[in-house]
Amino acid sequence: MYSFNNWRFQYTALHRQRDCYLARRRTMTAMPTRSDVMETLKGVIDPELGSDLVDLGMIQDVRVDDDGVVTIDLALTIAECPMRNQIESDTVRKVGSLPGVTRVDVRTTAMTKQQRADLMTTARFRVRERAEPTKLSPTTRVIAVSSGKGGVGKSSASTNLALATAARGYRVGLLDADIWGFSIPRMLNIKERITANEDRNLVPVEAFGLKVVSTGLIVESEETALMWRGLMLSKALEQFLKQVEWGDLDYLFIDMPPGTGDVQMALTRLLPQAEMVVVTTPQQAAQKVAIRVADMARRSFMPVVAALENMSHFVCDHGQTYELFGSGGGAELADMLNVPLIGSIPIDPLMVAGGDTGLPVVVHAPDSPSARAFREATERLLEIVPPAQDETCTGRIAKLLEALPVTSHSE
Ligand code: ADP
Repeated sequence: MYSFNNWRFQYTALHRQRDCYLARRRTMTAMPTRSDVMETLKGVIDPELGSDLVDLGMIQDVRVDDDGVVTIDLALTIAECPMRNQIESDTVRKVGSLPGVTRVDVRTTAMTKQQRADLMTTARFRVRERAEPTKLSPTTRVIAVSSGKGGVGKSSASTNLALATAARGYRVGLLDADIWGFSIPRMLNIKERITANEDRNLVPVEAFGLKVVSTGLIVESEETALMWRGLMLSKALEQFLKQVEWGDLDYLFIDMPPGTGDVQMALTRLLPQAEMVVVTTPQQAAQKVAIRVADMARRSFMPVVAALENMSHFVCDHGQTYELFGSGGGAELADMLNVPLIGSIPIDPLMVAGGDTGLPVVVHAPDSPSARAFREATERLLEIVPPAQDETCTGRIAKLLEALPVTSHSE
C-alpha cells in the first residue's frame, strides 16, 4: 500500500514537473499559433498567379507541436511541379523565421483536377478583385536592407548589392525609403529629378542600370526634405509602391530607414513577399540594436534572410589587418538570428570617396577588396533569394485553363 501511494506520488510529481517545464518553455519562447503560421504563409506568393498559398487553397493543414516543429501539408498544382523547391524553401524560410519554431516540415501532395480548377477560379477572381495594390509585379523579389542605427553603411550596402545584382543581368530597382535621411542620389551621383507621366505616376530615374526612386529625387535640396518630416513615413512608402511605374523588375532593393517599426509593418502589408537583410558593424552595440530591428521585422511577419557585416576590418598598405571596430558582431548577429552571414565588407577608403562623389565601388573599383566582398555577398544573397522562375507549372496550367469558361467565385 505504502509503495503504491509512494509510486503514485512520484508519478504525479513527475507530471507536475513536466507540465511546469513545458509551461516555462512556452512563456520563454512563445510558440506561434496555427493562425500565426497561416498569417505568415500569406507572405508566400505564387509568382505567376499573383496570390498567396493560403488564398489559393494550397495549404491543406498546419500543425504546431509543443517542441516547435511545424508541419505543413501543401498541395501543389502537379506532383512534378518545377516550382516545388522554390515554394517549399520559401515556406520553410518564412515559417522558420517565426520565434519559437525549431523545424518546419513540408509535406507536399498534388491537387485533384477539381482543386486545380478551383485554384484557377480563385486566381482569376483575385486578379479582378485586387485593383493592383502596388505597381510592383508579384514576380519581383523584394529585399529590404535594414540596420539598427544610422552610419553602419546600410545605404552603401543597398546600393552596391543592387548594382552587383544588376551586373548579373537582372532587372533591378532601388527604392530609398530613408525618407528624411536619403543618401542614394548622392551615392549614385544623380542630378536628374523624377518626372510624372500622363497618368500622374512617377517614373524612376535610371542610373547605372538601376531604376531609382528617392525623396531626394523629388525635393529640391536636402533642406527642403525637412518639410517631409510632417509626412508619415509609411504613407510615403505606400506612395512609392503604388504610384511609381517600376515596370517588370526581378529584384527591388529597399534602403530602409534605420530602426523604425512602422515602415516595416507598412512594407509587409503592401509587399508580403518582402524579405530582410540586416546590416551591422562588428561592435557589440551595433549588433544589439540590429537584433531589435530583426525582431520587429519578424513580429510583422517579415522574414530575415541574411546578415551582412560592414566595416569589418582594415588592411593597410603593408598588409597588416586592423579590427578598428572590434570583431565578431556580424557572426554573432547571424548566429542569434539563425541566418547566414553573407559577407564581411572591409573598411575601404574608396567607399568613403565613392559615397561622396557618386562612384560606387562595385562599378568604379570592381577589383577593390570592398567591391569583391560585395559581389560575393550578392552571390550568396541570390542563392538564398533566387529570382522567381519565369516558366512555372502553375503558369503553364494557368495558360491551359485559360480556355475554361470563367465562373463566378461564389459558384
Ligand atoms: P547608413 O546608410 O547606415 O547611414 P552609409 O551607407 O550612408 O550608412 O555610410 C555612412 C558613411 O560610411 C558613408 O560616408 C560611407 O561612404 C561610409 N562607409 C560605408 N561603408 C564603408 C566601408 N566599408 N568602408 C569605408 N567607408 C564606408
